[in-house]
Amino acid sequence: MSSKPVIGVLALQGDVDEHLAALHRTGAQARAVKSRAQLEELDGLVIPGGESTTAMKLLHRFEMEQPIVERVRSGMPLWGTCMGMIVAAHDVADMEQPTLDLLDVTVRRNAFGRQNESAEVDLTVPALGPRPFPAIFIRAPWIERAGPAVDLLASRDGHGVMVRQENVLGTSFHPELTGDPRVHAYFLGMVEHARLGKRSSAA
Ligand code: GLN
Repeated sequence: MSSKPVIGVLALQGDVDEHLAALHRTGAQARAVKSRAQLEELDGLVIPGGESTTAMKLLHRFEMEQPIVERVRSGMPLWGTCMGMIVAAHDVADMEQPTLDLLDVTVRRNAFGRQNESAEVDLTVPALGPRPFPAIFIRAPWIERAGPAVDLLASRDGHGVMVRQENVLGTSFHPELTGDPRVHAYFLGMVEHARLGKRSSAA
C-alpha cells in the first residue's frame, strides 16, 4: 500500500483533537472534517464524543447526513465513539431522535446513571488481546438491542459497550482519552482492509 490511509474526524462538535492525535500516532493521516467536500477524500471517518442532538442538527444544517450515509453504505469504515455511536445507531431508546441508521442497534443515552457519569473501567475486549482496555465512560450510552448482523465486542455490567457491524464500529467509551492505541489501531485495520478490497475489485 503506497500512501497512508486518510481518516477524517467529524469536527462539527465534540472532542476532535484527541482523536486526531491518536490516529496520527497509529500511522494514519488524520484530518478534521467540516464539509461535504472533505468527505470525498476519506478512507475512513470517526464521529467523536460530544452531544448527539446538537451533532445531528449540525449534520443536517451542513447537508452532510446523506453523503456520510452513502459513503458508509458503499463500504467506507465508520467509527462512532459515545455521541458518535448514538449518531450512527438505528434508534435511541425512549426518544424521538434522528440518527443516521448505519449500525443496527438501539442505544440508551446517558445510560450508566448519574452517580456514574464518568468512570474508568478495565474492560475485557478479546478482539484487542488479553490485556484489559482502560475504558473511559463519560455520560455514556449503552446498547439496549443489537440486530443479528452486529458483533458484540465488549460489555460493561451486562450491557454492550463495543460493537461492530461489518465496516461500522461503535464504542460507548473514549479510547482517544487514554494512551492505549489499540482501538485506534483496530479501526485503522478496518480501513486498510476496506482499501485493499477496493483495490482488488478495481484491478
Ligand atoms: N451524553 C451524550 C449524548 O447523549 C454523549 C456523551 C459523550 O459523547 N461523551 O449525546
